[in-house]
Amino acid sequence: MSIRLKVILPYFLLTIVVATIGLYVITNLIATRQEERLKNQLLDAGRVVSREFSRQEKNRLTQARQIAYTEGLIQALRAGDRLALERVVRPVAESARLEEVFVIDLQGREQLHLLRNAEGALESIEGEIGMGKAAWLAPLLLATGEVSDRIWGKNPLDGRYYHYSAVTVVEGRQAAGVVVIGTALETLLPDLKNFAIADVVLYDGEGRLIASTLSVYGADLPAQDAFALNPRTLREIHESPDLVFGENFTLAGRKYSIARDVLQVGQRNLGVFGVILPLDFVISIAQDSRNNYLFLFGIIALGVVGMGYLVSRPLIVSLQKLLQASLAVAGGDLDQRTNIRTDDEIGELARTFDEMTARLQARTEELQKTYAVLEQMDRAKASFIEVAAHELRTPLTLVKGYTQMLAMKLKEEPEVSALAHGILEGAERMQEIVSSMLDVSRIDSNILKILPEDVNLGVVIGRAHTTFEQALQERNLTLTVQGVDSLPLIQADPDQLYKVFYHLLMNAIKYTPDGGRITIYGHLRENPQGEEEVEIVFSDTGIGIDPQHHSLIFEKFYQTGEVYMHSSGKTKFKGGGPGLGLAIARGIVQAHGGRIWVESPGHDEARCPGSQFFVRLPLKAKSHERDSLSAP
Ligand code: ADP
Repeated sequence: MSIRLKVILPYFLLTIVVATIGLYVITNLIATRQEERLKNQLLDAGRVVSREFSRQEKNRLTQARQIAYTEGLIQALRAGDRLALERVVRPVAESARLEEVFVIDLQGREQLHLLRNAEGALESIEGEIGMGKAAWLAPLLLATGEVSDRIWGKNPLDGRYYHYSAVTVVEGRQAAGVVVIGTALETLLPDLKNFAIADVVLYDGEGRLIASTLSVYGADLPAQDAFALNPRTLREIHESPDLVFGENFTLAGRKYSIARDVLQVGQRNLGVFGVILPLDFVISIAQDSRNNYLFLFGIIALGVVGMGYLVSRPLIVSLQKLLQASLAVAGGDLDQRTNIRTDDEIGELARTFDEMTARLQARTEELQKTYAVLEQMDRAKASFIEVAAHELRTPLTLVKGYTQMLAMKLKEEPEVSALAHGILEGAERMQEIVSSMLDVSRIDSNILKILPEDVNLGVVIGRAHTTFEQALQERNLTLTVQGVDSLPLIQADPDQLYKVFYHLLMNAIKYTPDGGRITIYGHLRENPQGEEEVEIVFSDTGIGIDPQHHSLIFEKFYQTGEVYMHSSGKTKFKGGGPGLGLAIARGIVQAHGGRIWVESPGHDEARCPGSQFFVRLPLKAKSHERDSLSAP
């Protein structure tokens, strides 16, 4: 993940989390506030319905009294004169647009009954309907002054529910009859709805739905039963002093909330009314506000990402410059600088990096110069070796030749002959050193000639063995040769390989104390590329080599230990040598495309941990490769 993303992403995620929580809290708050508002509106509507119903009731009673006190009513009632009664009542009923009116005498007989028919005309109902005999009217007929009462009931004439308001007709202090005004509940409801600004439903005493402003509840709708109040709810409504909030319900796809209360006028509980408000606006307000806040938070989140981008930009640009500079420096371009000049931690880091690079550059230049000087010196040394070796070879050959002649002539004089042999031995050793110097200078100048032919390594190693046969005996060392005879023939220069084995065996003899063991072990193996190669290991029980010298001993003239400690003989224990053997061995092995290295736990002349020299050679000599000397 890029740094820019690492900076911006947490901000962005945090904003989303905060926005989601905020959105949730805010929309919930709004929804709760709207629900609260809705409840208050329902409470208001309920109060309005109660008040308005009582006010209308007063009007109806006034109209009933108007009829009861009309001149001639009592006489007509007492005389049982229906026509006279109608003459008195009809004008008042017409002018007040009454829907139903009936007048009963003290026996509860309907002396006059007018009902507005479907055409809108007040029709006079002939005969007894029996409505005057209803129990609620009896107390009015027994009253000793003006009494009024009201009730809801189903009109047997048209099957509709009516609100009936009754007033006694008083003569003196006695009741002479009762005037009853009927108003269909359906006629009352629209006014109530207008005042309450809510739909209104009415239930009778048993909780049956009897009228509603919701059009779906037409009188003949089966839904009525579903909306009947169960006895428990009914009891709750009767017992509660306030409006009782009901369950929300869905009707024709709209959600509504309802609250109900008892409709009481005077002492009379007429039934239960309910006020209904749609919930849509609550939901839509919550939705609207959620959308608004969603939009707002969206903008904020974008702003945060933008700000994160702007804030992280200078930081990231600096880091990118630093990265580019460090990559360039790592790739070897030490001229690179970050050029960051800020006052913050990145600026400090960049300055330190630039300083570091400058110092590295200076040190590298110094090293390059030193290296050039060393190279020059090495070249001088190499040419000195070469010149010295060449110059020494001729006189040495002369010394050797003349000494040999001298030894022949003085054969009869043993003392002088021994001296001549001593000179000869020294000359041979010097000749050997001179030829080693020549070998090294050939290797150094890459002119070592390899003349490959089929070589039996067993034979070459046997030659080296024979060379040191006497030395091994003198030093009481055991040499075991294993596996080399079964090795396949390899393409190599046998004389050069002889030199390799010569030096390795000579070293093993030199650095192994008397009575020790030397093993030469050869086997065929496969290299990582799947090619076959031979491996010859020279293992001894000698003084061992410290790991820190493992690669250095292959450099020319490199010797561990103190030179003056060396004894003089080339096969004596810790005998001296010019420090060229391993450099020659490495040069020859590498010229064959092989590798050579040493493994030893360390240098210890008391415990003698021993050393193992590994030589790997391809079956076919490859072109010269400079190879690492460490173990593969
Ligand atoms: P020289 O033997 O002439 O000193 P070489 O190049 O043959 O030079 O060896 C370099 C050094 O490596 C030796 O001086 C010696 O310290 C160490 N060395 C080589 N072979 C062995 C060995 N088999 N055991 C311990 N040390 C060894």
